[in-house]
Amino acid sequence: MSSRRKPDWLKMRPPSGERFTEIKSTLREHDLHTVCEEASCPNLGECWSGRDGPGTATFMLMGERCSRGCNFCDVATGGMDPLDPDEPANVADAVAEIGLDYVVLTSVDRDDLDDQGAGHFAETIREIKRRDPSVLVECLVPDFQGDPDLVREIIDAGPDVFAHNVETVERRQFPVRDRRAGYEQSLSVLQQVDRESDIYTKTSLMLGVGERDHEVYQTLSDLREAGVDVVTLGQYLQPSRSHLDVADYVHPHKFDTWRAVAEEELGFLYCASGPMVRSSYRAGELFVDAVLR
Ligand code: SF4
Ligand code: SF4
Repeated sequence: MSSRRKPDWLKMRPPSGERFTEIKSTLREHDLHTVCEEASCPNLGECWSGRDGPGTATFMLMGERCSRGCNFCDVATGGMDPLDPDEPANVADAVAEIGLDYVVLTSVDRDDLDDQGAGHFAETIREIKRRDPSVLVECLVPDFQGDPDLVREIIDAGPDVFAHNVETVERRQFPVRDRRAGYEQSLSVLQQVDRESDIYTKTSLMLGVGERDHEVYQTLSDLREAGVDVVTLGQYLQPSRSHLDVADYVHPHKFDTWRAVAEEELGFLYCASGPMVRSSYRAGELFVDAVLR
């Protein structure tokens, strides 16, 4: 069943608890911000506390303004911030102080920089691993315009999971994503990581942006063919009225069906799938469950 009126299963649960307060105050001390808070992510309570395993938090690197303007995304476009050279060390200090076991690093796109921010991203991974090599690092990176040398810089920094989001099926890439992105380009980035390293690869799709079922199936198949290990599926929610309309609200049962298809039929290591799932949803717990146990 699909509908366009916001259904009950999308009601927010406010975060609370000791762990939440503790993490929040360490972040403020380091003047750091997480996607979890900035996007008012509904999963914050679950992710930060880690129900049955390591907690997860997602740090946004390289400023609050993006060089691109995707129609589903609430991040501000243009007027780029200068890079903060202390950010890699600062993030690594906060990760160590909070005692996070699993960290997701993501960033705005930086098409304005010569290396599109690959060096800064790689340095942050290295700083975290230098303090504690056992911390698992997932990097959720831009497409680097498909430049294999820049993708290799990230590979060489040694993240545990390389994530890059394809966002939607091929036919709906535009109007969903900025014109500089693209289905084939994103697939080729993921394929390169699979070909050149043992790093786990991961991607995410939003449902509810006008895709059809057979296109979702085709996309999942294309991703497996590109060697992608993990996929997440979540409901698109319109950040404001100037963003892309929600085409439909996909029923939780349908998300369950896609999870079964992804895991049992297509052979993904795991698939997190549900209306509230975001790319980094309980990433630490699910990764440890599927890969390390
Ligand atoms: Fe943070 Fe991602 Fe979890 Fe949301 S889903 S709370 S952004 S780690
Ligand atoms: Fe948002 Fe990423 Fe698109 Fe930038 S590239 S507008 S951060 S989704």
